[in-house]
Amino acid sequence: MEMTQEQAKARIAELEKALAGKTKGKRLSEDELAAKYPHYKRGTLRWDELARKQKGIVICAKCGKEAERATSDFFQSRYCPECRKAVSKVTKAATRKTVTEQATELAALRATLAKAGISQVDVAAATVEAKEPVEVA
Ligand SMILES: [Zn+2]
Repeated sequence: MEMTQEQAKARIAELEKALAGKTKGKRLSEDELAAKYPHYKRGTLRWDELARKQKGIVICAKCGKEAERATSDFFQSRYCPECRKAVSKVTKAATRKTVTEQATELAALRATLAKAGISQVDVAAATVEAKEPVEVA
């Protein structure tokens, strides 16, 4: 069926009205996106008609690779998939190391204080009440 230009325009207006508000995710302006997501590449915001989503380019914070993502996924698109894997491995390792280091330090301090004749209860009380540095030369 052939459509005149006028009919096509009228149908477009009809469809736009029917689809208005049927968007996935909140629509944000260029400025809002840039303020909220530093890894968003300004000027790349577009509307994906079929997906009913806003999309834009994000730049990986680690390797600089660019990729298009739905703006609703920007919060989890700071890194590209490859870098995300690497970063999360490093973060987990760092957390483990920190806990180990903290535990080691704690054990050493307790031993030092025990040697000086200060009980663990006194240490806890001193930390809570006085907040003064405890000498552990
Ligand atoms: Zn990357």
